[in-house]
Amino acid sequence: MNFVRKIATIALFLTFSIRPTQAGNEHEHLQYLPSYLDLEAASNGTIGDIQAIQLFSDRRPLAQKVELSRFNKKQINYLIENGSLRMLSEYLATGYPEQTADDILRGFFEITEFHPNKLDSYLASTNIRNKLFINQEKLIEASVSKYLEKAIKSESIKSIFSVPSFMMEKKKTMANLQKLYSMKDCQTQFFLSIPRGQLYGGSNAGNLDYNLDLLSKNFNEPWMSGIDISGSILESNDLANGADIDKNMKKTLETNLKKIFRISGENKMPIRIHAYERANAGSFYNTFWKTLENCKQVDCAPPIIRIGHINALDEDAIKKLRRLSKRKSNPINFLFEANLESNQILHDAKIEDLVKKIEQLHRNDFTVVMGSDGLGILGSDSNFKRSLQKLDDAGMRSKSIERLIADAHRPIPGMKMTPYMEALMKAEEVKLKLEMLGHKQNRLIDKCKIGFNGILRQFKMK
Ligand SMILES: [Zn+2]
Repeated sequence: MNFVRKIATIALFLTFSIRPTQAGNEHEHLQYLPSYLDLEAASNGTIGDIQAIQLFSDRRPLAQKVELSRFNKKQINYLIENGSLRMLSEYLATGYPEQTADDILRGFFEITEFHPNKLDSYLASTNIRNKLFINQEKLIEASVSKYLEKAIKSESIKSIFSVPSFMMEKKKTMANLQKLYSMKDCQTQFFLSIPRGQLYGGSNAGNLDYNLDLLSKNFNEPWMSGIDISGSILESNDLANGADIDKNMKKTLETNLKKIFRISGENKMPIRIHAYERANAGSFYNTFWKTLENCKQVDCAPPIIRIGHINALDEDAIKKLRRLSKRKSNPINFLFEANLESNQILHDAKIEDLVKKIEQLHRNDFTVVMGSDGLGILGSDSNFKRSLQKLDDAGMRSKSIERLIADAHRPIPGMKMTPYMEALMKAEEVKLKLEMLGHKQNRLIDKCKIGFNGILRQFKMK
């Protein structure tokens, strides 16, 4: 090794050793990604005051969804009835008189320990963000760009976004966003978000038609990667978006789910289903199960079904999904997304239970990857390394940790990586395995050393 190469190798090693690791974010909502600081920078500081007044000036700035939340009903009604910035300021100021208008607005973008009810805050933030971005495509581009400017490479190694239709219909914005990510050597997929409520028909039928039309018009666009049946945050076993489900709605749900699975199957489009976040049974799950059970030819099922959450999975659900994945004719390809911080913050999930669920999925031969589910709202705590550490602290077995690290560093199913990305991923994987498990297993250290030497050799060859 000559001197320059030696220095380069040491620099490479140091780069890999000192930075935090995220290994991608496989469950994210595009509009929840930028932090308040990114947004403030992207709007040249206007978000603090002028924007705030616009955002809260309507009488009903928060969507109906918030009303359905069973939590702190009094507070929510108060916010809805008096939805102005002044009232919101007063509301937040009651407990925290020192806060400025900027602090208060920021408080509605990011969940901090000060929030009395974190689920409501998350929903409020979602609504405010949707409202903010709806006619400002440039702002989302600029704020994602701000985020990427300072994001470490590994943070953006893989990103899979749920994208609301009001963003997806701006073709130029989507193309620009994809370019921003590919410049960072990031594998990126954008899934069109179709809220689950639209599948039940009624007054929502038009919205579903609109979304399916948007999808079919843009099938061939490189940024239209898949379909996301979203909206499980307020699910319960008996209700769909807060409403009782009648026979008619069940029938419509079945027809629509079948239709979407077929579109996905015929076009080889992956699907993510926001599910098992708070519920694991009831009409949605029955229909989901039945539709897949009855689909025995290739084209009626998605090439891959990403299950959006693991929080409410139980033994019965895992057994059913396993049966579908192991059957002889047309086995279904499932992948699970664990969003630990989101489940802990929004649904009071216990980390020990999440550990058990991931281990159980591994025992059943399923792949589990990690996501943030709102990095800009939930904060930097929701990154891969910290999640791994939490799992480790809560007693996860080394075998499962090792598997999570390995699966996090595989390409997104169906996507190709450049040799550079491959090397970067490999280096990340080796480094993380050493950090997380090196002290436990000598065997693993040896394996990692071999892996690392392999990477160095690769760079030497270039
Ligand atoms: Zn989500």
